[in-house]
Amino acid sequence: LAIIVMVMTLNTNADIPPQRQAMLEAVRQSVLESAGYTGIATLSDAVMAAMGAVPREAFVLPAYRDQAYRNTPLPIAAGQTISQPLIVALMTEMLDPQPGDVVLEVGTGSGYQAAVLSHLVKHVYSVEIVAELADSASAVLKKLGYKNITVRAGDGYAGWPEHAPFDGIIVTAAAAHIPPPLLKQLKPGGRLVIPVGEYSGAQELLIVEVDGSGQVSKQSVLPVRFVPLTRD
Ligand code: SAH
Repeated sequence: LAIIVMVMTLNTNADIPPQRQAMLEAVRQSVLESAGYTGIATLSDAVMAAMGAVPREAFVLPAYRDQAYRNTPLPIAAGQTISQPLIVALMTEMLDPQPGDVVLEVGTGSGYQAAVLSHLVKHVYSVEIVAELADSASAVLKKLGYKNITVRAGDGYAGWPEHAPFDGIIVTAAAAHIPPPLLKQLKPGGRLVIPVGEYSGAQELLIVEVDGSGQVSKQSVLPVRFVPLTRD
């Protein structure tokens, strides 16, 4: 049995191209290095597998394709960015996604974070304020065969009431404050992962939880720098 398990593991790894494997290793290493302040020393196997399953090169601009597996953010269209793999992995881990979950993402951008999440949950709804990005992300996700992700153009500050409540909500642009509509669309016990702070200054990545009695608790996990959450 041990041999079979080992062979299976090797096969799984062999399916991941070497550059993506190296990105996973860099992410694992930086998670460990930042554990002192994030409190997260390791990523779950499920999150690592999801990161290993998504071809990041499909989500970056052609000019940056050779850099797609560096552990850095990269420019995408409309002056926006695809987040650093470390941040995508940490935010995914912070959300604590479960297989039956329906989650909302605010800030589709390239569609990469949505793709990672889609490997871990039942359905991902994602809202993007720049119509051009919503269109291109939809097209890439469709081309790659993702069927459990729905993208729409719009202001994600208002969430997506038609599909609420959500088991989890992830916001990938920095908000000046926690948008009340998002708290309202979160299931009791659900998590909201969101960068909050000044647009060009200090931002903190928060885990916000709402319990059954509506009590809101916040935990700051790490300082970050995101593009701003803009409004319609
Ligand atoms: N999750 C993305 C990262 C995107 S960067 C990825 O994996 O590539 C943040 C994105 O949030 C940008 O595309 C920006 O246009 C979008 N955004 C900013 N304000 C928004 C809002 N109010 N509603 C929806 N999307 C917003």
